[in-house]
Amino acid sequence: MADLARAITTPINVDFMSISSYGDGTNSGVVRILKDLDESITGHDVILVEDIIDTGLTLTYLLATLSARRPASLEVCGLLDKSVRRIVEVPIRYKGFDIPDEFVIGYGLDHEGRYRNLRAVLGVRDMAALRDPDLVARALESAGA
Ligand code: 5GP
Repeated sequence: MADLARAITTPINVDFMSISSYGDGTNSGVVRILKDLDESITGHDVILVEDIIDTGLTLTYLLATLSARRPASLEVCGLLDKSVRRIVEVPIRYKGFDIPDEFVIGYGLDHEGRYRNLRAVLGVRDMAALRDPDLVARALESAGA
């Protein structure tokens, strides 16, 4: 988000939501808003920025929630698009990269709260390896951080 904001030359406000899925295993796409936006978006041109779009369920829920607040416009920007996993089609106006069906960490993306500080996006082939306490150091080293 910080990198994106620095690349935008028109005046903008940046606001954050914190959400989590209900984690009931039903993959319903119903999310819990842990922290809502601080400011009203009514009448504003809004770009919803997502780290990664996977099934599209989270984004669909968020778009419905934010549309109800009557912004002047609402577009989606996604850094990573795992389109092979899509369950619901979502309109991505600004897209960074298509990626294969692989779990990714780093550059803001976490696994159980860790690894957001990796400077690169890393694909994880061995999920069990993420529990290795030395992995972060080795990954940072190989990413040239
Ligand atoms: P969706 O509702 O599109 O299936 O899921 C979107 C959310 O799931 C993302 O905002 C992200 O929090 C999480 N997510 C999906 N795929 C990945 C991944 O490969 N790595 C990480 N760290 N999170 C993911």
